[in-house]
Amino acid sequence: MRALRFHGPGDLRVEEVPRPEPGPGDILVQVEVALTDGTDAKAFRRGHPLLLAETPSPFGHEFCGIDTATGRRVVAANSAPCGGCAPCRRGQETLCENLRPFLNGAYAEYLLVPARIAGRNLLPVPAGLAPEVAAMTEPLACCLHGVERAGIEAAQTVAVVGPGPIGLMLCAAARDAGARVTVVGGRPERRELAREFGADPGDGRGADVVVEAVGTEEAWHDALELVRPGGTVLFFGGRELVVDTFRLHYEELTLRGAFHHTPRHVRAALAFLASGAHPWERLVTHRVGLEGVAGLFADPPRDLLKAAVLP
Ligand SMILES: [Zn+2]
Repeated sequence: MRALRFHGPGDLRVEEVPRPEPGPGDILVQVEVALTDGTDAKAFRRGHPLLLAETPSPFGHEFCGIDTATGRRVVAANSAPCGGCAPCRRGQETLCENLRPFLNGAYAEYLLVPARIAGRNLLPVPAGLAPEVAAMTEPLACCLHGVERAGIEAAQTVAVVGPGPIGLMLCAAARDAGARVTVVGGRPERRELAREFGADPGDGRGADVVVEAVGTEEAWHDALELVRPGGTVLFFGGRELVVDTFRLHYEELTLRGAFHHTPRHVRAALAFLASGAHPWERLVTHRVGLEGVAGLFADPPRDLLKAAVLP
């Protein structure tokens, strides 16, 4: 089969590799569509110590496809918690000690979903839901988990900094939780698109909760400046950050991080996509074959949100 593999930063190659052989409980999926995302774009440029530890590495993790054994259309998350370790028993499934290795290899004709994920985090796609929308299950699940981590509730004001694909999904997730959502930053056309995802453009000043969805130091500082005294800032990315502890202390700010997703959020995300509440398909702005992925990551078009990769 043909697969796009990561050989090192900036080096992606379409190669002929053996089709994986499913063992007991594994599910072999014929990939209909995979989606690009920001994590993959970053990993392409810099490598990734966890996702792409060994090279050449399979690549890509958002997908929808056909279970070759049953003919069903399915989606799967890129991990599943074990249910037995200490964090899992505490209910903190995103901190499961056995989440890794994360599933990679969606930029290929076939992807083997191992039994540990197939048993817990592989779901049939509802009839009528487009594969490229269903493939957003994993990132949307991260957003639903993030909204829960931030404690977002009805009638709160929420500012989402950064109207990229994740920012727009966060807008929808926060709106769905009943919040009044403002989208901050980005280009005018992106802020207009955010209206379709439940957010109004604004400056976000004094919001109860600020969600940072850009992943730059500048955006982290913006998020910390926008939040009201006593409010919460949710960080979606992670690197070093210098925090003004004066505000943290005197204004009792809460800073929280969110990572990954849980099986509950994976199910909720697929249902949210199937609800048709938002024009999710507008998050897919480009379509490429396996050969086109490297070019997109190396030189992203200005209007790129997510690309559908058709293997
Ligand atoms: Zn666990």
